[in-house]
Amino acid sequence: MAPTISQNGATRVVMLGTGTPRPDPDRSGPATAIVVNETPYLVDFGPGVIRRAAAAYQKGVAAIGLGASNLKTAFLTHLHSDHTMGYPDLIFTPWLMGRREPLTVFGPKGLRAMTENILKAWEVDLGVRTVGWHARPPCEVNVHEIAPGVVHRDSNVTVTAFPVHHGDDLEAFGFRFETADRTIVLSGDTSPTQSLIDHCEGCDVLIHEAYPLKNSGTVSPAWQEFRRNHHTSTQELADIANRVNPDLLVIYHHSNAGGGPLTGDSEDVLLDEIRQAYKGKVVSGHDLDVF
Ligand SMILES: [Zn+2]
Ligand SMILES: [Zn+2]
Repeated sequence: MAPTISQNGATRVVMLGTGTPRPDPDRSGPATAIVVNETPYLVDFGPGVIRRAAAAYQKGVAAIGLGASNLKTAFLTHLHSDHTMGYPDLIFTPWLMGRREPLTVFGPKGLRAMTENILKAWEVDLGVRTVGWHARPPCEVNVHEIAPGVVHRDSNVTVTAFPVHHGDDLEAFGFRFETADRTIVLSGDTSPTQSLIDHCEGCDVLIHEAYPLKNSGTVSPAWQEFRRNHHTSTQELADIANRVNPDLLVIYHHSNAGGGPLTGDSEDVLLDEIRQAYKGKVVSGHDLDVF
């Protein structure tokens, strides 16, 4: 894994986690930082998020802050555990390391209860860290349960949430970030949806999940149907990219056949399949890549 750190003007995309539920040591759980004028905005907080954020800081992404203490604004695509198991880490570690403003988090219904339950689960720790000579101010989290539309706007960025389809039982969003110099769209986890295409006008960077087709028929019909209803194949993503025409397509959340076995198609297969049908610039994202 060779991290690539580059400067790309005022807005940069820092891949903090490009993995899936599978505990791949080289890929943390889903997490992406959009850094605008040295302010970081986090999308998803899978397991490993704060360690990867600290690694990005060490590699030169100063905006993350020492101890990831500048992570103050986060957006959640959906409540699946692979996207949220870093949430206690995001709440507590940067606070311990010096974050003195509340953490503000935007996400689907259920985020408030998850937040309250995490704070409750760590109440003993919070109790001892907020008293005595080394007492910290209270650890505050502002939660906004969102609906589609503009969910956040400040001097750096306008963030629009749009609905995506990730199975039939779960609310899931993608996000569009518009800054002075770039438009970035993140799919989150989704099967092909028109709403993503509708929110990709003028898209500079499209960050999208995908699964390869080569061995997709080797799993049970039920798993094949699950994937079709929850995720996007390389063929489908090529079709989306041809319609959206982003300057750069970044693939993340590259899932395995059946979601579990360690015999998934390689990254080369993934990229070959996309390139057969899409001639634009496409890369497979790795943790700590900067675009
Ligand atoms: Zn996922
Ligand atoms: Zn998911």
